[in-house]
Amino acid sequence: MLEENVYLSDHSNFKIGGPAKFFALVKTEGEAVQAAREAKEKGLPIFILGGGTNILIPDEGLEAVVIKTGFGGISLEEGNKLRVGSGVLVSDLLNFCIENEFSGFEWAGGLPGTVGGAVFGNAGAFGGEIKDNLLSVKAIDLGAEKPKMETYDHGQCCFEYRNSFFKKNSLNGKRMMILEVLFQMQKGNREEIKERIQEKIDYRESRQPLEYPNIGSIFKNISWDSLSGELQEKFKDVKKTDPFDVLPTAAVIHDAGLKEMRVGGAMVSPKHPNFIINFDRATAKEINELANKVKEKIEEMYGIELEREVIFL
Ligand SMILES: Cc1cc2nc3c(=O)[nH]c(=O)nc-3n(C[C@H](O)[C@H](O)[C@H](O)COP(=O)(O)OP(=O)(O)OC[C@H]3O[C@@H](n4cnc5c(N)ncnc54)[C@H](O)[C@@H]3O)c2cc1C
Repeated sequence: MLEENVYLSDHSNFKIGGPAKFFALVKTEGEAVQAAREAKEKGLPIFILGGGTNILIPDEGLEAVVIKTGFGGISLEEGNKLRVGSGVLVSDLLNFCIENEFSGFEWAGGLPGTVGGAVFGNAGAFGGEIKDNLLSVKAIDLGAEKPKMETYDHGQCCFEYRNSFFKKNSLNGKRMMILEVLFQMQKGNREEIKERIQEKIDYRESRQPLEYPNIGSIFKNISWDSLSGELQEKFKDVKKTDPFDVLPTAAVIHDAGLKEMRVGGAMVSPKHPNFIINFDRATAKEINELANKVKEKIEEMYGIELEREVIFL
């Protein structure tokens, strides 16, 4: 079932990345287990791919079996619960919510990527996070001797700011694939839900450089409490609460005068300085170098240690 040498730039929102040694799009638990078995036989690691909107893939590609989640389907269960496949795009889920008058995900208007990717990184915006409506997650450890689907309740998912049990496990080398997610929704008014979603989409279009390939905010926002009194005073007008008190990293990068800083075809976006854009056939190496330069400069100027939100493979 594996395809050989599949270009990952076609699966990356950055339009960057060399080939996967092997690639499989899986739509069932059985296919996921089969792909994992083949990876084991070949002695290759597994990488799980969603919509590719939060990762930087190396120019040389991945000497791995890349398993892309194609789990579809949104079904309604008693008590306004939605069971959603991990490969469903967040935008499709939002359209379903508008059609069927479900409220709860309006904050996610314009959030790219899949539901599985959003759960993995506990995606959030405008004060909301994917964890807020989540009841449970079905996932499978593809690295296990005998992979078996298990259900994790909200508590077991250990959500934190842009973090989850699944992400922590993956950083420890465990390959847990999220298959489906159960959400608790509330009934709402179609027009109001649609309007609130559209507001967020419009906001993103006006503030984010969506005209260039990108992978969203490169660095996490900075916890307000971690700042010195001097920095709190300096940035007091841009402080925001999302989901807790933060200094938006974009404001610091702007203050440091790093907008439009370039390495090759990679540039710090002048529209949203926490975004790096691929404005002219940038390589992964160039993006990485630019991100490192920004991090170093911010540390040197403000003593703030920026932490990456995106995943550089
Ligand atoms: C323009 C733009 C704006 C953005 N705005 C925001 C924002 O406001 N808030 C925010 O939080 N993020 C934002 N992002 C980042 C990104 O959209 C989200 O993090 C998104 O949820 C990632 O989903 P994905 O399917 O693209 O994941 P991918 O990029 O494909 O993968 C990200 C990580 O999740 C893992 N993963 C993906 N699917 C699964 C699965 N089914 N099982 C296990 N692991 C999986 C991958 O292995 C990888 O480590 C933005 C990105 C862009 C391009």
